[in-house]
Amino acid sequence: MNLVLLFDEDLVHANRAIIQDERRLKHIHTVLRARVGERLKVGLLNGGIGYGTLIEISAEAIQLEVTIEQPAPPPLPLTLILALPRPKMLRRILQTVATCGVQELILLNSYRVEKSYWQTPRLTETEIHRQLILGLEQGGATQPPTVTVRKRFKPFVEDELGALVKGRQALLAHPNSGPLCPKNTAGEVVLAVGPEGGFIPYEVEKILACGFQPVHLGARILRVETAIPFLLGRLF
Ligand code: SAM
Repeated sequence: MNLVLLFDEDLVHANRAIIQDERRLKHIHTVLRARVGERLKVGLLNGGIGYGTLIEISAEAIQLEVTIEQPAPPPLPLTLILALPRPKMLRRILQTVATCGVQELILLNSYRVEKSYWQTPRLTETEIHRQLILGLEQGGATQPPTVTVRKRFKPFVEDELGALVKGRQALLAHPNSGPLCPKNTAGEVVLAVGPEGGFIPYEVEKILACGFQPVHLGARILRVETAIPFLLGRLF
């Protein structure tokens, strides 16, 4: 946790917050070992960042005087379309996506996504939000990506994708295809990343038909959770 994220319900006044949940209390007590008078880096969910001076500390609650000094780092102008990963990876990927500043995430079905993945409790709004918060706290940012799910590949690609990519650079990360993924792009990007087994040729064709350019990352095939930060590092 490189920033203590504060929520509306923590704020008792505009500049006073009380933290009472076990997770943040435990972190501040046992990892940061913070003492009264010390300052912690804080941010307001969807707001600015600054510091919180510790006013009172107990096992049940921590009170902070909050000073917001600057805007949080802005999200990357990126919509990531990601074939739904297996539940265990989904948790980590949600965190990574929030840490790296992705603006929008669309979790999409694909032929090689196992049907059972859609049943995972990790896809509930609460669980997704929990992972995004962990990612923001890691990255020191405050704005979580919007996350939507599309359980049907064909209607999404045929009815929505064309409009989504309009006026934006659209890239499909696909091993051994097209040029090397570009570096330092300007403007908005839509990036599609496949499932562990990759998109099948039919899906690749459908995505390319919407104006996507295939790009690769070199000779090595990366796991999805490695490919994403690698791609973002190159693009932005
Ligand atoms: N056997 C699969 C294939 O050839 O498509 C490998 C899939 S890979 C584990 C999962 C996803 O990560 C891919 O669909 C792609 O989006 C991305 N990826 C991984 N390594 C990549 C590379 N070297 N170039 C481009 N994309 C890559």
